[in-house]
Amino acid sequence: MMKKIKILATGGTIAGKAASSTQLTGYTAGAYSVDDLLASVPALGELAQISGEQLCNIDSSSITDALLLRLAQRCNELLAQEDVDGVVITHGTDTMEETAFFLNLTVKSDKPVVLVGAMRPATAVSADGPLNIINAVKTAVCAESAGQGVLVVMNDEIYGGRDVMKTNTANVATFKAPNGGALGCIVGGEVRYYYRSVRPHTLAAEFAISKVTALPRVDIIYAHIGQDRVLVDAACAAGARGLVYAGSGMGSIHGAVEAALAEAVQSGVVVVRSSRTGSGRVSAGLARWQEQGFLYADNLNPQKARLLLQLALLQTHERSEVQELLLRY
Ligand code: ASP
Repeated sequence: MMKKIKILATGGTIAGKAASSTQLTGYTAGAYSVDDLLASVPALGELAQISGEQLCNIDSSSITDALLLRLAQRCNELLAQEDVDGVVITHGTDTMEETAFFLNLTVKSDKPVVLVGAMRPATAVSADGPLNIINAVKTAVCAESAGQGVLVVMNDEIYGGRDVMKTNTANVATFKAPNGGALGCIVGGEVRYYYRSVRPHTLAAEFAISKVTALPRVDIIYAHIGQDRVLVDAACAAGARGLVYAGSGMGSIHGAVEAALAEAVQSGVVVVRSSRTGSGRVSAGLARWQEQGFLYADNLNPQKARLLLQLALLQTHERSEVQELLLRY
């Protein structure tokens, strides 16, 4: 009996259309519908009973908090159905790592959820989308994928939603897990796992979003030489409840910005230090930073720390509790 897999389409390059087969940039993402996508890969019908649903059809760089919430809520509705054995989400690669981590924390099911995309539009010579989606469905029907958390399948590799990151603007091997590695691969047509995430996810995660209609505003402030406090003040004035400081090195804070961040903490904004380096852990750091109430993101990159902070702020503004959540997940 073939498993029943729902393809939830959101757009991206996997549904992208260019003017010619050699045009690999400057094309329109989210141009083809889920029906077009499924019709273009008939081999999917040999792997599972497939049905498609179009949630939206956009470039993933424009995903909003509201859409992210709707996607998580729709996933939970689908996964609660007995006639759905797993969900494959087609998604742009630009923000796939964010959606994967958010779903990893908010999906309430151990049925497989797999995100997949493409680096080359559907019209391209050597388009990577068709094989990626075949591999994603293979991963979704694999019994071993249950309970692994939300997964990303790209370029023959399987990544955990917490770990995965887009690391290159154009290369098909762009997805990596810079603090670890892939959980598994699809080679010779077989799905093979070698590692498993030890951080809680899906059924073991405590975040409930079924009735949530908006996420708290959390902004990212990116460190650089010559920085001043203007963007911190602007974020606070715009109503940020949290700030992630994408610090240099191990979450270092520019001297001209520190006082603004300390004032933000005093006014009730939760400030979390992360790193702009792309990998590695940020720890508690200077005693002075701890006294000023700055939290730290462990090894989550700024965009992932932002999402976890949004979920944390739905349940607490107590700094020690938020820090505990940042370390647990
Ligand atoms: N360039 C993007 C992609 O690879 C477009 C997007 O993220 O939607 O899918």
